[in-house]
Amino acid sequence: MFSVKASVAAFCLLFVAIDLSNCQREPGALWMPSPHHYSGRNGYAPKWLILHGTAGGSSAENIARWFQNPDSQVAAHYVIGQDGKVVQCVDESSGAWANGRIESGADSWWSVNPNYVTISIEHVKPKTDNSDAITPAQKTASFNLVRNIISRYPAIRKAWANSAGGITGHFSISPISRERCPGPYPWEELFAFLNGGSGGDECYGTVTASGGLFIRAQPNSGSAMVGSLNYGSQHRLSGRSAGESINGNSAWFKVPNGYVSGYWLQLSGGASWCNSNVHI
Ligand SMILES: [Zn+2]
Repeated sequence: MFSVKASVAAFCLLFVAIDLSNCQREPGALWMPSPHHYSGRNGYAPKWLILHGTAGGSSAENIARWFQNPDSQVAAHYVIGQDGKVVQCVDESSGAWANGRIESGADSWWSVNPNYVTISIEHVKPKTDNSDAITPAQKTASFNLVRNIISRYPAIRKAWANSAGGITGHFSISPISRERCPGPYPWEELFAFLNGGSGGDECYGTVTASGGLFIRAQPNSGSAMVGSLNYGSQHRLSGRSAGESINGNSAWFKVPNGYVSGYWLQLSGGASWCNSNVHI
């Protein structure tokens, strides 16, 4: 009897005999292939990693089944469930149909079909506006998958995307229709993880307020407004204070020029005062 792994390996070897480019898989990922991709990437190689949120759905397998459905005409390379399960739908050597057209306001480096030059990871988020925070299991799976992909494609920089490559969200390509894809994601924590930082003393907050979050001069909503933070953006927090209670949460966090209410932040990081479970 072949083990499942041996069978997959045998299948890959068979495939390699036909097309050398066609076997880039994440070890341990459940393989649920979708036909919605460009085989061979039209000669391009991936330089950017694009993170997405599914804006609906329940499990990674269900999303992968939708990617197999001819009605969808879409697929991502990977889907990560809220339970941390990783499903692979498209070989990394192919361009998954994950990213739509380049919209007005997109980052300047997008020119060729983005699907030729990207690897895409979907994160299951049941809420249709992608406002869910990713779960701890999903975060661990996502960080490990990103690290492993980059080990296979070192041209993908371990940093925010720029013209040379890197990691970003779907919003970079389609800032109008996909402004909230992936929605909240612990970006800075990811970069610290990829670059060997412990993150042990750090605290990050991702803005969950749909209209953005005002920065106040003092930890109360009556003090001067000195700026604002965009929905879904992540910021390093440098301290915590008790302030005005916002919907029962009196934690306020220090950002470079003022304070923001903890009620509207998804917290992550290893600092002792950075505890997402504490609503004081
Ligand atoms: Zn997306």
